[in-house]
Amino acid sequence: VPSGAVAERTFRVVMCGDAAVGKSSLVNRIVNGQFLSNLPSTLGVDFHVKTVKHDGKVVALQLWDTAGQERFRSLCKSYFRRADGAILVYDVSSEQSFLRVRHWMETIQEAVERPIPIVLLANKSDLRDSGRAVISANQGSTLAAKMGVLFSETSALDGNNVDPVVHTLTREMLAVE
Ligand code: GDP
Repeated sequence: VPSGAVAERTFRVVMCGDAAVGKSSLVNRIVNGQFLSNLPSTLGVDFHVKTVKHDGKVVALQLWDTAGQERFRSLCKSYFRRADGAILVYDVSSEQSFLRVRHWMETIQEAVERPIPIVLLANKSDLRDSGRAVISANQGSTLAAKMGVLFSETSALDGNNVDPVVHTLTREMLAVE
């Protein structure tokens, strides 16, 4: 997208999922196209903007991320209320983060006034090669189907599937009226 292009639509996308699943790394991958092993931690709640061109439309995505607030459920309602879309992340090497997906789903659904497009991401797919993944892709896609959300395996480290996810979510948010 050429710099200076004016976005026709702006969407607020919230990142959620347990601590350390790779939310900030995914935001950095989406916005800067890179992986940093030592990301400077955000203070509180912050967003980064990714501008994408989808079907000839210039769309600005505000990617909202939190620093450690995952632990404080109280923050969640206001954080999620005005969301246009959500990226719910777990780590394929952490069973605990997978078991917590339903909790995050409930938190989103309680907060929003009407359903929003949600994509469930099985992040750190690169760990499959070294046998460190404990949750299969099939477990992830089955859960996503039950919850009625989109699903993809991703890696913030090697970039696997990250761009397609951004476009799929953008398409779904554009389809909401
Ligand atoms: P957050 O707390 O959910 O924002 O997670 P971070 O983005 O801070 O990442 C937590 C840890 O996981 C860091 O050590 C990252 O370098 C690492 N990490 C994040 N994404 C990936 C990934 O796709 N693959 C691997 N192998 N490590 C990752």
